[in-house]
Amino acid sequence: MTGDLLGEVRDDGRLIALRADTSAAQRRCTLTHELVHLERGILDCGPWLQREEGLVHAEVSRRLIPLASLTAAIRALGGADDRAALAQWLDVDSETLTIRLSRMSSSERTALRRSLARQTLLWSVA
Ligand SMILES: [Zn+2]
Repeated sequence: MTGDLLGEVRDDGRLIALRADTSAAQRRCTLTHELVHLERGILDCGPWLQREEGLVHAEVSRRLIPLASLTAAIRALGGADDRAALAQWLDVDSETLTIRLSRMSSSERTALRRSLARQTLLWSVA
């Protein structure tokens, strides 16, 4: 593995290599990242590399952090302020969590807010 790469597709998509000295969460995110690259079929995008990487990161964050899981984690931890704990709860690396939180759609934000408020109301009634 060269440089700072955590993983890479080799042998024309027949092999995904993962860096050994990473956490399980990092390997999970990296493997999903490389699989999304393969699914998209764009392994060499030249000048569009940054754009493609951004799209892949966003897709990985949506797949590994479904809204229901994010909601449950925030509820269990009592908030989203402790990002390290939230990432650990969700079994993702901090980069994937940051991307997921920063790219939530307005409808997802509304759904998350409503779900958390509803739960708080239920707790206050119980
Ligand atoms: Zn990539």
